[in-house]
Amino acid sequence: MTFTFVTLFSNLIEGYFNDSILKRAIEKNIFEVKYLNPRDFSLNKHSKVDDTAVGGGAGMVMNPQPLFDALDSLKKEDENVYIVFLTPVAKPFVQNDAKRLSNKSHIAFVSGRYEGIDERVIEKYADEVFSIGDYILTGGELASLVICDAVSRNIDGVLGNSDSLTVESFESELLEAPSFSKPKNYEGLSVPSEYLKGNHSKIRSLKLALSECKTKFFRPDQLKKHNI
Ligand code: SAM
Repeated sequence: MTFTFVTLFSNLIEGYFNDSILKRAIEKNIFEVKYLNPRDFSLNKHSKVDDTAVGGGAGMVMNPQPLFDALDSLKKEDENVYIVFLTPVAKPFVQNDAKRLSNKSHIAFVSGRYEGIDERVIEKYADEVFSIGDYILTGGELASLVICDAVSRNIDGVLGNSDSLTVESFESELLEAPSFSKPKNYEGLSVPSEYLKGNHSKIRSLKLALSECKTKFFRPDQLKKHNI
């Protein structure tokens, strides 16, 4: 699998892949990460990539020409590339999207900057558009990293133990039960006593009850979504 970040600021992204699970996945050739800078495609003599908005309005908008040319070159290299634009106005990205996108062979994430991207680019090239939440970031780089991270951990071989994927929050209507580490007592705080008794069927029932409590408390909308 290939992830291509189409961005003016690849150095904001690169460091994320230099450590931990995703670094190991790249070393094992499970996926690769590439970068494409629209500025390298600018025909402007000063390599400009943005201009004031037609019709007025605050701030600068990313011009179509560098992005058209960058995305054409990407499609020429790989006709199967799936192009995702990051924009706060789109539907929010969720776990099911992460699983679905993990089956693609090549995803390109296009990050906007300034006041955003000329709408004609999105209309012409977007296979899908995503927001990561109802707030405005300075650019799409963080949003594309969030999505890339969530997608990549669903690719076979990325996680050491793929069982982790099946019991996590958002895999069903219930959030995952609380987790505890060692020691069993820490500064007078104990883990639930049932966890210590080794009766796995009782531990399962307790975990289910705790999952229900946690979901009702933090995310009752999840229960409503599943008509519970
Ligand atoms: N003027 C735009 C608006 O009000 O809809 C916001 C532009 S924002 C400052 C610049 C870029 O950051 C966007 O083009 C997009 O790529 C990215 N961005 C900002 N917030 C985002 C979010 N919540 N989800 C995904 N991308 C976001």
